[in-house]
Amino acid sequence: MIKKNSKLDITITDMTNEGEGIGKVDGFPLFVKDAVIGDRVKVTVTKLKKNYGYAHLDKVIKASPDRVEPVCPVSKRCGGCTLQHLSYDAQLKFKYNKVVNCLKRIGGIEDASNKIKDIIGMDKDGCNPWNYRNKAQFPVGCDKANNIVTGFYAMRSHEIIDYSDCKIQHPSNVAIVETIKAFMDEYAIPPYDEGSHTGIIRHIVTRIAVNSGEIMVCLVVNSDSLPYDDELVEALVGVEGVASICININQDKTNRILGDKTVTLYGKDYIIDSIGGVNYRIQARSFYQVNPVQTEVLYEQALKYAALDGDEVVWDVYCGIGTISLFLAGKAKHVYGVEIVPEAIEDAIANAKLNDIKNTIFYVGKAEEVLPREYEERGVSADVIVVDPPRKGCDIKALETIVKMNPARVVYVSCDPATLARDIKWLGDNGYVLKEGVAVDMFPHTTHVETVVLLTRQNT
Ligand code: SAH
Repeated sequence: MIKKNSKLDITITDMTNEGEGIGKVDGFPLFVKDAVIGDRVKVTVTKLKKNYGYAHLDKVIKASPDRVEPVCPVSKRCGGCTLQHLSYDAQLKFKYNKVVNCLKRIGGIEDASNKIKDIIGMDKDGCNPWNYRNKAQFPVGCDKANNIVTGFYAMRSHEIIDYSDCKIQHPSNVAIVETIKAFMDEYAIPPYDEGSHTGIIRHIVTRIAVNSGEIMVCLVVNSDSLPYDDELVEALVGVEGVASICININQDKTNRILGDKTVTLYGKDYIIDSIGGVNYRIQARSFYQVNPVQTEVLYEQALKYAALDGDEVVWDVYCGIGTISLFLAGKAKHVYGVEIVPEAIEDAIANAKLNDIKNTIFYVGKAEEVLPREYEERGVSADVIVVDPPRKGCDIKALETIVKMNPARVVYVSCDPATLARDIKWLGDNGYVLKEGVAVDMFPHTTHVETVVLLTRQNT
């Protein structure tokens, strides 16, 4: 009988979707953080539930051939790169299996492994699975000795690990963070304290347009202005590439990083990047994919699945700053975009102009409200609909309207295989079958994976 605090010697035979190792004792599964498939490990049981339990990894007795030494010194404590101790090859396998298993288990697609093509990783053609992110969000706080700390939240906590040289981030972040820390020290600007809701600086958010070299630095503040802002600007413009410095005002007691109002202190209100020959301007509050190299791969795949010949009416639902819309516009008759964040739609409209694209129309609003309204009031239809929802997937009202709009093809871009599988099941029950899909590794060293799939209408 396994008991709490039992010490066991087990072999890890599987992994959870969150990247924990799974080892079985007489058929009873134990979840072990930091253990990888193929490891033989010594563990102590920490928690028991009826059908499964948790155990602490005490020692690796025999390392799996897939185990590697993490590159980052804080990888074990940080909640970010939970797969750093797994070889990149094995990470790709893990992600491919995660997508296929979700489609089988939740989507009811038995032959998912035939439908989903090999995952596209960052391991080919001079691609680099490190320093790939173009956006960083560093929480700012104080340690017990009252020193300013910035870095990353420890796993499942709000304790800040003081470390800015994140290996998946752009190297310029280090200079930016150190400059801001020195500024806060010099002018005694207090970091925000969550417990008492006092202090000023909550987060440092940076965005780096890797193709143009432009950098945006945004300080999230718990006040309506920033003392000594001219001095901050003077210090930050010394960092190469800084093209926009702003503050974002967030005075709420909330876990949400950005507030509603952004004030530009220096330079433009946005930075400009380009993907596949299309230029995009991006404001602080607009969504923009975090891995520019793999974004191009993803969009090319979406374009392939859309199979446009120039005559199609296309809807890009959850369009952000219009990235996919503008990527497809050159091959379509008209593209309509829908997005909830007003600044993102401002960017989308500006981006159409910037690229001299004239066949796009963008709507601000919830997909589940804009689509039914446009369908009922104007009877809009579509030849192709692309959806790229946030993690929670598509709202049922949006899905219902998509089916009524009767497109020949639905291209579903997803950052969560579980909600993708749920929505594919619903679409399957309502006339759209999964034809093909591919996973793209947009987030190396984390457990996250992006997928793009093509669904086609059955009745024609
Ligand atoms: N296709 C874009 C953005 C995808 S991210 C790109 O590739 O860059 C998902 C987007 O959906 C975000 O911009 C988010 O603001 C938006 N969003 C979230 N909920 C929404 C809703 N209910 N209706 C419309 N857009 C929503």
